Amino acid sequence: MPQMDLILLAMEETPTLGLLERALRAGGYAVAVAKDPATLEKVLLETIPNLLVITETLGGKKGIDLAANVLERFPTMPIIFFANADNPALVKQALKLGLSDYLHPPLKIDDIVHAIQRSQKRAQQLGDWVRREIRRTTASLEQRVDEMGTLVKLGRAITSTLDLDSVLTSVVTAAVELTNAEEGHLLLLDEETNELYMRAGRNFEENFARTFRLPVKDTLAGQVIHTGQPIAFNHDSPNKIKTAYLVYSLIYVPLRSHDRVIGVLGVDNRQSKRPFSQHHELLMTVLAEYAAIAIENAQLYQATENERSKLAVTINNIQDGVILLDKENRIILINPAVRRIFGLGLGDFTGKPVLEVISNNDFTTLLNSIRQQSPLKANEVTFEDGRVFNYQYTPIPEIGSVITLEDISHLKMLDRLKSDFIHTISHDLRSPLTAIMGYVELLDRVGPLNDQQKQFVRHVQASAQNITALVNDLLDLGRIEAGFDTRKDDVSLEQILQFTVDNLGRQIADKKLDFQVHLDPQLPMLRGNPIRLRQMVDNLLVNAVKYTPEGGKVTVSLRREDSQVIFEVADTGVGIPPADQPHIFEKFYRASNAPKGTPGTGLGLAIVRSIVENHQGRIWVESKVGQGTKFVVVLPAAEQAAAS
Ligand code: ADP
Repeated sequence: MPQMDLILLAMEETPTLGLLERALRAGGYAVAVAKDPATLEKVLLETIPNLLVITETLGGKKGIDLAANVLERFPTMPIIFFANADNPALVKQALKLGLSDYLHPPLKIDDIVHAIQRSQKRAQQLGDWVRREIRRTTASLEQRVDEMGTLVKLGRAITSTLDLDSVLTSVVTAAVELTNAEEGHLLLLDEETNELYMRAGRNFEENFARTFRLPVKDTLAGQVIHTGQPIAFNHDSPNKIKTAYLVYSLIYVPLRSHDRVIGVLGVDNRQSKRPFSQHHELLMTVLAEYAAIAIENAQLYQATENERSKLAVTINNIQDGVILLDKENRIILINPAVRRIFGLGLGDFTGKPVLEVISNNDFTTLLNSIRQQSPLKANEVTFEDGRVFNYQYTPIPEIGSVITLEDISHLKMLDRLKSDFIHTISHDLRSPLTAIMGYVELLDRVGPLNDQQKQFVRHVQASAQNITALVNDLLDLGRIEAGFDTRKDDVSLEQILQFTVDNLGRQIADKKLDFQVHLDPQLPMLRGNPIRLRQMVDNLLVNAVKYTPEGGKVTVSLRREDSQVIFEVADTGVGIPPADQPHIFEKFYRASNAPKGTPGTGLGLAIVRSIVENHQGRIWVESKVGQGTKFVVVLPAAEQAAAS
């Protein structure tokens, strides 16, 4: 049974209501009645009537306001306004609101039925129109969504692949599909010949595409290159695009990279007269941008690749070993020198833990101390066959670290020869020196010496003492370097410092130096050899006094920093030129600006450095010529030294 149309009568109880109800039921309609606004609301919540008839007032509210409210919620619902009397002003207002018809007494059944039929018909037409419009808009929206989908997919392809050929072919394919064109191409400018060549094409014969070349001059594509503006046309008859081929319609858009036009993206129709729209041109502009980005990406990638391969050639050919590690000490790269140094063969070690690949005690100890952040004991990797490599470790943020290994075997051998030589010579010198000193002291006992003879004897003694000091220094250095100093006591650097300062009292006073000592209250003990630590303090303080002119200032400080003791000796003396600074810890090296006549052998700092290193410490210098010098020594405190 077909569904009956439902008419909702929103009117209070009156004879007219009864009349209307009966007439409508007789006319084949279903009828619902709402005698007040609340019931009207309730009925509208439960069902949507096909038509509403509303009276001028309902339950004290204005029917026209209630009708306006219903229309807002159901814009296509036909509403007939039922006025109490023929009131043109009210009728005008009702029709203005969008109500479909109006009735007023006296009522005739025919009028009622006609009004209802008219309103329903108009509502039907309106509904049909809305549905048609919705269908049309939906189709167009669906097309836009498809286009967007294609553009998004293309965008992803551009960022995820570096294969320029495939990206550009996808761009041209998308251009042809989205514009519904017969063919499409991407032309790039060859700046050397000033010609355009086809970099990608769709629906072109392969041979034609490969050999296609178009002079920029006097062509439409060339015009796009020159002006940077797109060109689009639709013609009824085929048009020869200057010196190329015949087309009905066409879109050419420029490809821009860094403010330069580098090519043209084009689509055309040669067989059909199907026109292109402005929207097509817009899509082409977006696609051209994609293509330009893809080309830029490829160029950047190429440039990076070139740099990378240059770097690879360099790393592979340098003599030093280079090991690049990630943060977990797994191998990222090793160069052929490393393979030679550790005899690794040709295997691929990428990603393997370096300590599984390289087995060398020194190397393992070094990597472990770096991991535990303990001070490096030495920067050397030694091999049983006598080879020695200097090891540099550099952390690289975000990546891990790089280790370089430099072969210093020959330097080590020279150093050993030099040490042996010095050791032998110093021993051989000591006995004759002792004899000289002994006999010189005896001279005045064998007979009286005149004044001049006494002066000569003093000269001989002073010189012999200098040589003895030098020989002693050399022997000390030999012993320290050879690692003979195994004595380890708890030592107070503060006491040693006090002792040295007392001893230097005379010289400090003679030179009228402003001598200051700063000490942290609770300084930890050091674990070490007291004689050597005293030698270290002596040498640094003597130098500060020696190289600072009269009236200058010397500041000595001892402080604790975590588990380390920092010993600093600063002066306002002659300073050390930057070129000399890297060498002053070498044996016999004296800086170029050391004042003439200053006594010294160039061994003091070499001894200091050996002592510091034997105590697992570090030393460095900061200095400015004419302003002064500061030596900083960092030594582990006793508990730390005992633990390591
Ligand atoms: P030297 O016996 O010559 O003092 P060192 O080994 O103690 O030998 O020092 C090496 C060189 O470093 C010195 O010759 C001097 O040129 C420079 N030097 C050391 N300490 C100082 C300082 N406090 N101020 C300026 N120069 C210094």
